[in-house]
Amino acid sequence: MPLLLSYLQNEGGSMPRCPECGGKMIYNRSAKTYICTSCGLVLTREQLDEMRESLLREYEEESRSKAKEYLEWWLGREEHGA
Ligand SMILES: [Zn+2]
Repeated sequence: MPLLLSYLQNEGGSMPRCPECGGKMIYNRSAKTYICTSCGLVLTREQLDEMRESLLREYEEESRSKAKEYLEWWLGREEHGA
C-alpha cells in the first residue's frame, strides 16, 4: 500500500497529505480547514486526525494478519520438512 505508506511517512512534515488520494493539502486559515489540491477534499484538523487514526488502525490490522499468514505458512512448511 504505497499511497498509505507515503501518507504516513509524511506525518510530522510541514503539510498533511490527503487521506483519499495522497495529494498535497493546503491550509485555509479563514475557514480553518485543509483542502486537497489534487481532489478538492475539504477536512478540518479533527477530521484529518480521525482519518489518519482509522488508516493507521487499518494498516496495523493488515500487517498483523499478513504476519499471521506468514507464520502459518512457515509453521506448515516446517511440518513438511525432514
Ligand atoms: Zn485528495
